[in-house]
Amino acid sequence: MPSTARRIGTCTQPATILLEARHPADGLAYGALEFSVYVCDGHAHAARTEWIAPPLTPFTAIAEPTAGHQCGEANDLN
Ligand SMILES: [Zn+2]
Repeated sequence: MPSTARRIGTCTQPATILLEARHPADGLAYGALEFSVYVCDGHAHAARTEWIAPPLTPFTAIAEPTAGHQCGEANDLN
């Protein structure tokens, strides 16, 4: 699946989580992936409420390592 890198915000802190922004599908929130974004602790709330806005739903990608990534690194999936 091709993806396009972009940045959200100007924060350069080390990322601590990777969030997935997913579309609703068939009545469930866990549908197609729209984009993913690395987030630091300080921006976790903003990312979940502003960077990923309805109808998209934020999910934490708990299995993905965040080492070496900065807050705001996003990948759009096309
Ligand atoms: Zn941040």
